[in-house]
Amino acid sequence: MYQTMKINNWILEVNTEETKKQYLKEWDLCDCLYCHNFYQATKSLAEAELQFFKQFGINPSKCNHISHFDSQENGLHLYIGCYHIVGKVSAETITIDGAIKIGNSLTACFSNDLEFVPDGFTKPVLQIDFELELPWVL
Ligand SMILES: [Zn+2]
Repeated sequence: MYQTMKINNWILEVNTEETKKQYLKEWDLCDCLYCHNFYQATKSLAEAELQFFKQFGINPSKCNHISHFDSQENGLHLYIGCYHIVGKVSAETITIDGAIKIGNSLTACFSNDLEFVPDGFTKPVLQIDFELELPWVL
């Protein structure tokens, strides 16, 4: 079932149940050390960040496209990547600073422009582009 969500400047039509099912499918995930750190570290996200993903049915530990940047002054590692949701952006108000900040470590924005969608993901697909700071946990 689709529901309408308004998040900052975006109006989204999302299907949380269907999205959850996509994250239960087998995906080709990168096997490098940086990605393994991401999969592990996202298992203990702070509450605000975790709730952000959960509301869409996303499993944050499952991400098939992530770029890693070396640790920052604060000792955290910056990851940039995208998640996908079954749904679409139905309206968007463009502002200068479009991205939203969630908790202390996550920045995200929504788009109908797609890349790196996992094989077999149910359409229509909406993309979240994110930046996330994580500790090294391995
Ligand atoms: Zn990797």
